[in-house]
Amino acid sequence: MAKIKVWIDRDQCIADMVCVSLCGEVFEMSEEDGKSQIVAKYRVDPNNPAEGLVPEELKDCVEAATESCPVSIIHYEVAE
Ligand code: SF4
Repeated sequence: MAKIKVWIDRDQCIADMVCVSLCGEVFEMSEEDGKSQIVAKYRVDPNNPAEGLVPEELKDCVEAATESCPVSIIHYEVAE
């Protein structure tokens, strides 16, 4: 099954939690810097909170967060 690659330009996150409220399965707020990050289970690299690979069934959820982020810093694409 296809997976969805998701990444966040975390430097520009304004921490309003919109992504978390729309798609808490994929996004969470970091306790370290207060910005959005990919939940640990979906990270490609455990040390990189900005990038994840999620199951295709979460695409609608990721898309909702992407479209609603007020600073448009969430991106996704279908990964092979
Ligand atoms: S919706 Fe965008 S700005 Fe808001 S917390 Fe998520 S990534 Fe950051």
